[in-house]
Amino acid sequence: MARRVKIGDPAQLQQQLIKLLNDFEKRLDDGDLRDQVKALVPAVYVLRDLGSSLIPEVQASSARDRILYYLKKYKFTVISGDELAVVSGISEYARRVRELRVEYGWPIYSGMTAREMLGEETEKGTADLITPQLSTSDMLSMSTDDYILVGEQDRDAAHRWNIANDIRKLDISIRDRLLQYLRSNVGKSVTGEELKYVAKGAQSWPRRTRELRTEEGWPVATRNSGRPDLPVGVYVLEADRQAAPHDRKIPDPVRVNVLERDNFKCRCCGWNPSEQKPEDPRTLLELHHIKHHAEGGSNEEDNIITLCNVHHDDVHRQKINTNSDLYQWLEENCST
Ligand SMILES: [Zn+2]
Ligand SMILES: [Zn+2]
Repeated sequence: MARRVKIGDPAQLQQQLIKLLNDFEKRLDDGDLRDQVKALVPAVYVLRDLGSSLIPEVQASSARDRILYYLKKYKFTVISGDELAVVSGISEYARRVRELRVEYGWPIYSGMTAREMLGEETEKGTADLITPQLSTSDMLSMSTDDYILVGEQDRDAAHRWNIANDIRKLDISIRDRLLQYLRSNVGKSVTGEELKYVAKGAQSWPRRTRELRTEEGWPVATRNSGRPDLPVGVYVLEADRQAAPHDRKIPDPVRVNVLERDNFKCRCCGWNPSEQKPEDPRTLLELHHIKHHAEGGSNEEDNIITLCNVHHDDVHRQKINTNSDLYQWLEENCST
């Protein structure tokens, strides 16, 4: 039913709709099925015109603009596809949502992606508030055809979607495609919708992305794995640098506990990612096993400390691998 919506006066359209429905009354008794259905088609059109007339044309003149206007007005609110159909006046609203996301960089999540993403990323309990109005459990209860706008327009997104489109076609594993995409965007925020696209929609994309961090030691930061400053649904490869083999395979709950214990700061210099400056060689916090994993060091929290990348490299250069040597080194070389 591709048909251009006419923007009219809501009161007038409402009257028109009532008249059409009143006229329909006599069809109920004598009409055959086909006549009944055909008599309702104009009512469907007028209903759409009425829905799209609710937003003044000066505010939004196309179906896509009306969808954006509505999502922005109710940011962080779960909106059903049916509402978007009414307010846009078109049945292909899902395509317009996709354009807003891919071509214009608006972070709009569908229910399906929100569930896949949060299902994997919320090990610390789902009562977590994303904003005062929205909790993770609200997002987890979204149905497939629900949508939510969770942030501001990202003007770099269209460029990233082009990269995603190239990587998506490569004949390599899902995890390698995700890694290649993240490595094409070091230090930048990418969304779960982009990662899902690179994974060709495979539902395993959140798990594969997490494994890049917990198994392979890539610094893929998220809100729930030690970067509470990041918005929900955002992933950042903090540096193009894979952790040394002995510092890999740290489960996320251990990671978060160690970072919280160390106040999200380097235990040597006290640096935190929020202090990042262009000329500063410190770019990320890393977790270091004091007694190396390969030498029987455990994944327990008391064998792991938080260091910035610069001091982590220092510790490795000194080949320190006992608790007492490390604490002596921190004492002699560090400001905290
Ligand atoms: Zn440091
Ligand atoms: Zn280390």
